[in-house]
Amino acid sequence: MVTNPLADFPFFSCELTDQEIENILQRHHPHFVKHFPKGLRIDRTACGLGVFTTRKLKANRKVGRVRGYIETRRDYTSDYCIDAGGFLSLEPAAPFRFLNHSCEPNCQFMNYISVEEWEDEERRRVALERAASISSRINLARTDAAYGVEMWLETLRDIEPNEELTIDYAWSDDRAIPCLCGSPNCRGWIIAPELLNSFLRKLKRKEKERREKVA
Ligand SMILES: [Zn+2]
Repeated sequence: MVTNPLADFPFFSCELTDQEIENILQRHHPHFVKHFPKGLRIDRTACGLGVFTTRKLKANRKVGRVRGYIETRRDYTSDYCIDAGGFLSLEPAAPFRFLNHSCEPNCQFMNYISVEEWEDEERRRVALERAASISSRINLARTDAAYGVEMWLETLRDIEPNEELTIDYAWSDDRAIPCLCGSPNCRGWIIAPELLNSFLRKLKRKEKERREKVA
């Protein structure tokens, strides 16, 4: 029986107590995490936890493969999950589970499975069969490996040792929350750039309606 080891994760590590952060740091120490990429560490940030590089990284290079747990429900959503193509969502394991958002990120996720590959129903059937077959032989049920998913974190620019690694969460507008990334071009909200303007218009409209109701 394989259970989802990531199910009980808190999302906003800012809301964690010092003791909870300490427990996470111990539990996700590279020594205890399978496939923890070399040259990375999880550490405290001004607000909770983040992922840091211990060495200089060049632009447009792979940082590490994102391992994790696969969800096959089409409507699946969570605070961490990554679109892994077609009907698959990847719940990343440590360390990449702890990547923070920035409106000017220095990294991005790259999916090495072509979109076309996952689009048709036949491919879906084959993937599910292959996953079931692999899972029955080795203890890989519902992991990226069982589904043949290959997701990597890659650098977007040169990164100095001890810099925090960040990605653009690019959330949909129904999940947008205020952004505290502090970058000069911060959008103010954690939201996909192309959705920002319509989202702000919607906010304005709602605020106007609220004021009219009060008046
Ligand atoms: Zn921001």
